Order: sequence, then structure tokens, then C-alpha cells
Amino acid sequence: MPEMPEVQAHAERLTDTFGGRRLKAFRPLTFTALKTATPAPEAAYGLPLDHVGRRGKFLLVTFEPVTFVVHLMQGGRVLVDEKQSVKPRGGQARFLFEHQPTDPPGTDPPALLLTEQGTERRAGVWCVATTGALTSPPLDSLGPEAATIEPAALAARFAERPNTRIHGFLRDQRAVAGIGRRLANETCHRACMSPFAMTRKLGLDGASAIVTAIRECVAEGLAEERQRPDMSSSKDRLSRVHGRAGEACPVCGDTVRAVEYASYTVNYCPTCQTGGKLLADNTTSKFLK
Ligand SMILES: [Zn+2]
Repeated sequence: MPEMPEVQAHAERLTDTFGGRRLKAFRPLTFTALKTATPAPEAAYGLPLDHVGRRGKFLLVTFEPVTFVVHLMQGGRVLVDEKQSVKPRGGQARFLFEHQPTDPPGTDPPALLLTEQGTERRAGVWCVATTGALTSPPLDSLGPEAATIEPAALAARFAERPNTRIHGFLRDQRAVAGIGRRLANETCHRACMSPFAMTRKLGLDGASAIVTAIRECVAEGLAEERQRPDMSSSKDRLSRVHGRAGEACPVCGDTVRAVEYASYTVNYCPTCQTGGKLLADNTTSKFLK
């Protein structure tokens, strides 16, 4: 799933390419793509795209009256729609823009296409009033931005949220927003912290270590992602431990380990993170359930 660096860099690319263009129409291509009834997308027709922003892992396609909040989920992408075919593969919704004088004559007006590969079909668009967008569903339940939270605020978050493993806390968008499976693994490794460390025991020192680790991982991811012409695929993203079970830790040379869960894998380096201790692998218990 795209996380903060991928979504942020993509928002910047889309702003560069489509900023100032006037919206001609918004067309859902499936019955489930548009998640809201009011305000109507038509409120933005004929108006210029102000910018594409980001909150957590959501893209915010922002016009003055209304904002289209786009969640890519697992396999979603917002692509420049070159073909504009009637039934694009995996197509969820399309933003059509008006011609502008600088466009080459005889070409179709540009369009953006939200696609989702795979079978889940959970990507979608919420149309919300731009004023108050951040406090409207689906953004109202998000925690503070992981990339910019300060250590004291994160320590307070540890204290006020349910006591949980730091790996789970980082992936919970209500706790902090923008981190997914890869960055949770990378952050814990970078902070030399067990992914199973309990949040109520971390205090300000633990929060400081996590904040420093998040910022390093995000800065590296952003630098990498901003060089790309389009959003990376997950296999291209930087990692020291994520997806590297059985490989050597680039910091200490120990073997990267994995704890498998139904929908994600915890990767960690025992020497860097757990004092050499192996974390319980619940693969067996998963099958006994
Ligand atoms: Zn290591």
C-alpha cells in the first residue's frame, strides 16, 4: 500500500501537471466509487484545480468549493488517463478537465483515472466541502501526521491511546496517520526498538527515538519518490528489513526475521532490535484457529 512518501510525492506531481486546469466532469465508473451524496461533484465543474494535497494516506484533489478525498487502499492508483477508454481495466472514477489554450490542437482534453487492481475494490472517493474537509469523514478519524509529530505529542499519544505494540500503533491511522506496513517495520528497525515494545512503557525517550526514525525513513522515501515519473510499486521501495526475511541486516549483518500475520508481516533484526531474542512466530497458532 502506498504510504506517506509515495502519496505525498504523487500529490506534488499531480499538482504540477493538473494545477490550474478546469474540471469538466467527475465520472464514477463503478457503483461504489463515490462514497458521498452531498455536496455534489458538480460544484467544482468549470473551476480550476487549486492543488492536490495529502492527509495521511489520502490524496486531496482540491477545488475551492469541494475537495475529492481519494483513498488508494491496497492497489489503487491515480494515473494520467491517456486512452480514456469506455471501460478501463480496474477503473473506479475519472476526472475530466477542459481544454486550455496551451494544449496541442486536436488532442483530447487531459483526464485523471482512479484505478484499483486486484479484487478488493475498496479504493474510493469522498466529495466533501473544502472548508472543514479535514474534520469531515473519512479524514476526521485520523491521528496527527506521523511525519511531523513532535516527541512530546507522540509521548502524549502513547499515554492516551490503548496500550499496544508499537508496530500496531504505527500502522493504526487513528493513532498517527501516514504509516503502513513497510514504514512500521523500517521505523522500528531504525529506532533500534522491538516491534513488540508496548507503547505505555516507551515514554518521552521512546517517542523521541520513534520520531527521529520516522523522519529519517520519510525523508529518504520522499527523496527517492520525488525522482520518479510516477508512483513506485512496492517492490521498488527502500527497505532495510521490510520484505527481507532471511537476508543480512545492512547495519549489523544478523539475519532479518519475520513474524507472519494474516494481513501483514513483522520484519526485524534481533541484534539491532531485541537484544538477540527471537520474537514468537504465531504462524502455527494462526492455522490452529
Ligand atoms: Zn541489525
